[in-house]
Amino acid sequence: MSKIIASAAIRGAYKIVAQAQEQWQRAMDKFGAKEPVGFPNTAYYLPVIYGMLGAKVEKLGDMESILKRCKQILPAPVKENHPLPYLGPALDAGMATLFAEELIEAVRYLEKPDFYTKGEDISDRSIWLGAADDVILRKRGVEFVDGTAPGFAAILGAAPTKEIASKIAQELQQKNLYVFMSGEYNGKRFSEQLLEAGVQIGWPTRLVSFGPDTTATVFAMGFATRAALSFGGIQPGDFRKILIYNKDRIFAFALPMGFVSDEWYATAAGAINFGFPVIADTPIPEILPTGICTYEHVVSNIAHENLVAKAVEVRGLKVNLASVPIPVAYGAAFEGERVRGEDIYLECGGGRTLMCEWVTSKRMSEVEDGKVEVIGPELKDVPAGSKLPMAICVEVAGREMQEDFEPILERQVHHLINYAQGVMHIGQRDIAWIRISKQAVEKGFKIKDLGIILHAKLHQDFGRIFDKLQVKIYTNETDVKEKVERAREVYKHRDTRIEGMTDETTDIYYSCTLCQSFAPSHVCVISPERTGLCGSYNWMDCKASFEINPTGPNQPVPKLETIDQKLGQWTGVNDFVNKASRGKIDHYNFYSIIYDPMTTCGCCECIAAVLPMCNGIMTVNRDFPGMTPSGMKFTTLAGTIGGGLSTPGFVGHGKYNITQRKFVKGDGGISRIVWMPKMLKEEIGERFSQRAAELGYPDLLNQIADETVGTTEDAILPFLTERNHPALSMPSII
Ligand code: SF4
Ligand code: ZN
Repeated sequence: MSKIIASAAIRGAYKIVAQAQEQWQRAMDKFGAKEPVGFPNTAYYLPVIYGMLGAKVEKLGDMESILKRCKQILPAPVKENHPLPYLGPALDAGMATLFAEELIEAVRYLEKPDFYTKGEDISDRSIWLGAADDVILRKRGVEFVDGTAPGFAAILGAAPTKEIASKIAQELQQKNLYVFMSGEYNGKRFSEQLLEAGVQIGWPTRLVSFGPDTTATVFAMGFATRAALSFGGIQPGDFRKILIYNKDRIFAFALPMGFVSDEWYATAAGAINFGFPVIADTPIPEILPTGICTYEHVVSNIAHENLVAKAVEVRGLKVNLASVPIPVAYGAAFEGERVRGEDIYLECGGGRTLMCEWVTSKRMSEVEDGKVEVIGPELKDVPAGSKLPMAICVEVAGREMQEDFEPILERQVHHLINYAQGVMHIGQRDIAWIRISKQAVEKGFKIKDLGIILHAKLHQDFGRIFDKLQVKIYTNETDVKEKVERAREVYKHRDTRIEGMTDETTDIYYSCTLCQSFAPSHVCVISPERTGLCGSYNWMDCKASFEINPTGPNQPVPKLETIDQKLGQWTGVNDFVNKASRGKIDHYNFYSIIYDPMTTCGCCECIAAVLPMCNGIMTVNRDFPGMTPSGMKFTTLAGTIGGGLSTPGFVGHGKYNITQRKFVKGDGGISRIVWMPKMLKEEIGERFSQRAAELGYPDLLNQIADETVGTTEDAILPFLTERNHPALSMPSII
């Protein structure tokens, strides 16, 4: 390693550790050793420290031993004639820097609780988002799982101009990367430059303004550490595995922009520990030989227009760039972008006008591949701020095409359209909702481009199952009305097909191993009455997905012999799970939370837990941030059981699954549910009450407690007793 870099990194580490020491001492004098500290809404404490050392920093007093540790690993400053190689000491200095930076940021949270917004979006009060909480980690982690986000770029400092900043950000977005921003150069910050250039920043657009100081870079490293702990199922303290996991799976790199200070060198040395290389725009010394990182460690003096390409090359990232011939940028990073108020040029659906999306198969002779028609007004025919009805009808033909594939293709419409910059899409079927921004229209975007996107992308991703595809987009009242009515009949027909199926009516279930890239021992087996715990895959979807991609993540699993009818266990499923988990899990039950339940990974929609005192179970959905009667919030529950294990007493499941007839059937079924958040009750209420009525408990939903009744077992028990909840008279649950 270059001596200059090593000396600077070590000098920087000394400065940051000293800063942490000083700020900690000041906080101790003011608050005392017992004062609780930490990042908001997380089960991972100060994550880099927790991951690397296994140490839980919960109180101010806990920081003392971490500071001691920092000083222990700080290497001696590099002397003029140093005989040793520099890499090891510099990496240690980098690690001490990250620990100290976490302490500094935790003290900041204590002293200025409102400094960061603590959410996905910036607000009027602050543009700094601070540490990602566990809800954000899970949600975004899924994107790392399914490959829609290969990694992140950590940008320190600022670009020479706001135009260059926005160009670099857009280039990174188009490669589907997250952009984590921190630090300052020349009185400017990259996040502020983007805002000045009118770019939307925040988690939804993947442009994450972590914080104004260099120390906020540690939030990026904390995110990477938690990804390894949560999705990789790695134990806290197993630092080697965490670092290797990141090097192999998270395609991240650091882009210092501007003068590289000692503190930046120190922080960058911390990142190199994770295998994240550094690509600088200034002429700092390079470290080209490989070792810790996949390719080079430090590459410097790269011109701004080549920065992103160089970073991608050095990190060894292969990006399939979608070539979609439309006049706006296109990529997964634009999925979360919103179009609001003044910015709206056209709005369709969303309860304001009629809208539907419908994929249907046609005969070969009826489809002209690539033909896109707009029947009714185009954007140029209506003024800004207009509303129109819309029916997007996609017609496909091909020898391999089947009716079962139609909903699979239809489900793609949402994200494919959302990927276009300046276009927002919500929902599907006849509750779809679309907004097109003025900015997109200014760039030349047309309604017709929606069809061009669907043609290009569906061909690219699903070309194997059809030969030809054409799109008709109706925007006139009469046609839309007619299409919506016809589409509704088709939706109904599709729903009754899966609704009518039971686990007994098929000998084949389907696996999903999509989450194994992050939770290696996790295997979902999906039956007609148990959809995937992420809520995204039902049995039909898996079946179609297997036919579309026979070597993909959804494989048929023959049930074979029944081992336990009541709990839902079969020899064929066990064999499959054993193999797919590489011997980690050799059996599980479909319908029980108590006896060897299914494995749970980080992306479950809900987590159920046994409440022994109430003789029942509770379940909580990811979107509910509050405390639950299990004594844990969703995030803590997920952190405890979400690593791909089977944990008796707890199980992850989809929202829809609650209203499927086999839900915890082996433990007594839905009449065991004694607590759910109010929002979940409302969301699934209608179907839930139908199921409950079938079981003879028409009023069950009202007998179930929620957070307005209480969030401890003690607090809800009187309510359950008063309402005569059926669980209280059921056999003992444990
Ligand atoms: Fe992950 Fe299971 Fe959903 Fe597949 S079905 S994506 S394995 S949670
Ligand atoms: Zn998962």
